[in-house]
Amino acid sequence: MTPLVDPFARAITYLRLSVTDRCDFRCVYCMSENMNFLPKKELLTLEELDRLCSAFIQMGVRKLRITGGEPLVRRDIIKFFGAMGRHLDSGGLDELTLTTNGSQLARFATQLRDIGVRRVNVSLDTLDEDKFARVTRWGRLPQVLKGLDAAQAAGLRVKLNAVALKGFNEDELFDLQAFCHARDMDLTFIEVMPMGDLGEEERIGQYWPLTDLRAQLAQRFTLTDLSERSGGPARYVRLEETGQKIGFITPLTHNFCESCNRVRVTCTGEIFTCLGQEGKSDLRGPLRNTPGSNAPLQDAIRKAIGLKPKGHDFDYSRGEAGGKMSRHMSHTGG
Ligand code: SAM
Ligand code: SF4
Repeated sequence: MTPLVDPFARAITYLRLSVTDRCDFRCVYCMSENMNFLPKKELLTLEELDRLCSAFIQMGVRKLRITGGEPLVRRDIIKFFGAMGRHLDSGGLDELTLTTNGSQLARFATQLRDIGVRRVNVSLDTLDEDKFARVTRWGRLPQVLKGLDAAQAAGLRVKLNAVALKGFNEDELFDLQAFCHARDMDLTFIEVMPMGDLGEEERIGQYWPLTDLRAQLAQRFTLTDLSERSGGPARYVRLEETGQKIGFITPLTHNFCESCNRVRVTCTGEIFTCLGQEGKSDLRGPLRNTPGSNAPLQDAIRKAIGLKPKGHDFDYSRGEAGGKMSRHMSHTGG
């Protein structure tokens, strides 16, 4: 089958799939406190998710990341992981992985490892119990720490993702760095993006540019830029004194679109070919309307990728949240 290539000659080999819009946390930068979630019938069933992913894999996708909402709160999700494991066994997929808030890892880490998951990204912005409860509204830090223990005990490689929030975790930069060093975890900082429905002023107030964070690290450590890229937005440095790798996801201070190899599909089967643009196409129709054939689905995938934009327009430089998106991050899964 002809591989998936977009109009800017970027090969699409990475699918990020959101399997639910629900979550057991309500992080302030991601969701409002009272969310209206989708009715169940809107969601793709696990069987439909399987067909969808398998179609992408047939078209050349080599890496699948499961996200949400919180992927591990979807009922029977481990069955879906199990089903995707067959693509690892057959060599269709190089990697099956997930992004999680860690709350359910104590339950699922061993099963995920047995299925063939090797790495997990766990989102954790603070090591302070009170601050954790404030930023996640509903989360409890000890539960997540237990999840991290379970993941590492199962042999999963863990990367922590921390959203850099001005006036919130600025003072924990070196605590997070030391925590990850002591536990041999990778660490990536993410600039807060203008998603969701927080007021604009509040959003800009939260913005802590990673150039600033990097400058603080450079005062204490010798930083070496690493050329390694994952085709994604992260750039990495090594702290020479500890040997640690630290990543920066800087959609707002650095444009990374030229090497973008990914697309996102929501739990309702909408494909977003750019996180920072509203453009989307429907895959649920072709998936549901022709249960016996994948041809219409694969046509729709190809058509959507044919419309992948060159890049996003996030921009805070004019003192306003330019390029702001109205949808929540939990919708496309980050
Ligand atoms: N629930 C899972 C989790 O928290 O890891 C997966 C979904 S969550 C939407 C994926 C990632 O998006 C998390 O690392 C989260 O911190 C990040 N995120 C959510 N809202 C964001 C925003 N406004 N700006 C930057 N990152 C955001
Ligand atoms: Fe849930 Fe993840 Fe969004 Fe937090 S960032 S509310 S854990 S989906």
